[in-house]
Amino acid sequence: MGQRSLHAKGDDSMSGTDDDKPATLVVTAGRRDEWTQGVVNPPLWRASTILYDDVAHLRATARSDTHHKLFYGRRGMPTQWALAEALNELELGAEGTFLYCSGVAAVTAALLSVLRPGDELLLVDSAYDPTTNFAAGFLKAFGVATRHYNPLIGGGIAEMIGDNTRAILLESPGSLTFEVQDMPAIVAAAKARGVVTLLDNTWATPLLFPAIEKGIDLSILACTKYVVGHSDVMLGSVTAAPGFFAKLRDTSFQLGHVASPDDCWLAARGLRTMAVRLKQHEASAMEIARWLATQPEVATVLHPALPSCPGHEYFARDFKGSSGLFSFALKDGDEASRAAFIDALRLFGIGYSWGGFESLAIPVDPKRALGVPDHGGPLVRLHIGLEDVGDLIADLDQGFAAFRATRG
Ligand SMILES: *Cc1c(COP(=O)(O)O)cnc(C)c1O
Repeated sequence: MGQRSLHAKGDDSMSGTDDDKPATLVVTAGRRDEWTQGVVNPPLWRASTILYDDVAHLRATARSDTHHKLFYGRRGMPTQWALAEALNELELGAEGTFLYCSGVAAVTAALLSVLRPGDELLLVDSAYDPTTNFAAGFLKAFGVATRHYNPLIGGGIAEMIGDNTRAILLESPGSLTFEVQDMPAIVAAAKARGVVTLLDNTWATPLLFPAIEKGIDLSILACTKYVVGHSDVMLGSVTAAPGFFAKLRDTSFQLGHVASPDDCWLAARGLRTMAVRLKQHEASAMEIARWLATQPEVATVLHPALPSCPGHEYFARDFKGSSGLFSFALKDGDEASRAAFIDALRLFGIGYSWGGFESLAIPVDPKRALGVPDHGGPLVRLHIGLEDVGDLIADLDQGFAAFRATRG
């Protein structure tokens, strides 16, 4: 206390200014004095019960808007509010952000906040698998029909919009195969027909694609990935454009969503370094993707910043940069030779998720309603971590030796 305040105090206005750059905002955002009491990063508040002075106080609180007021643990505490506000400030023009116990919980709550029985959802065919499964399972049983669309459909989406079409879910680049969507064209077509747009923005984060500013209505992050950044927390968020937050919050409260304060506290620590981490992920991943493109064992590299990636022209036009996740195809490989390549890697771990400080490699075999193009061989997905890039290239190089050895 007593030091210079970094922020607006005691009101719900955004603490940053429109001029602060994203790298500044990840450092300053969400650090209101009344939540930090002068501690640099918002401290950990854990609670279920919050005690009132008397019955009149309890009754008055229950009647008032509980937003940013201590009420009951499920409505959150300053640890969660600080992280939600920080993520919200990264999305210029956003109305509010809600946090979830995982990225999948964020996707499903966002969809449920806009869809009703009888509605139709248009779902990008390259969506994250559990998103597709939710549409085919829960949403179908709930009375919502789903139609899949090609990630490269662009403005052609207008022809798919029917009387019952309520929402379009985008994910750009797509999971596993990284097709980049013509998002401005899809947003324009949706707005013309009053259709809601939801974007899974986990790959780019608001630092590389400011979704709300670009006209998306609900922007979803698996914070598990780059926001947390250290592979030790599951967390998700949805950031809403004006007009969409009240329904999102109401739906999420009804569903009982609350993100753990411990997880939010760790995520807030991760967020402070997200801008510098992303720069390094980008630089190392670009160097490795370009190197891979010159290797005889590689059929194609699916990295949005390379022209070989479908939709690269939209990436070049719309994104501020790339992150550390991409795939490539092993030329004429098969299951066994792909496994030999991955198993030979010393620095790349074999495991799900990504966005942490460490490098990962997994075999991926996309299954799509509309079919998967032939990439010239089986796919390997890499997450490029923060290790020395020369060490990583040397590791991949000896992986190719193991790949060649399986083929005599
Ligand atoms: C990982 C991921 C999710 C789900 O996040 P979890 O925190 O693992 O539930 C959603 N979308 C994308 C694109 C992801 O990569």
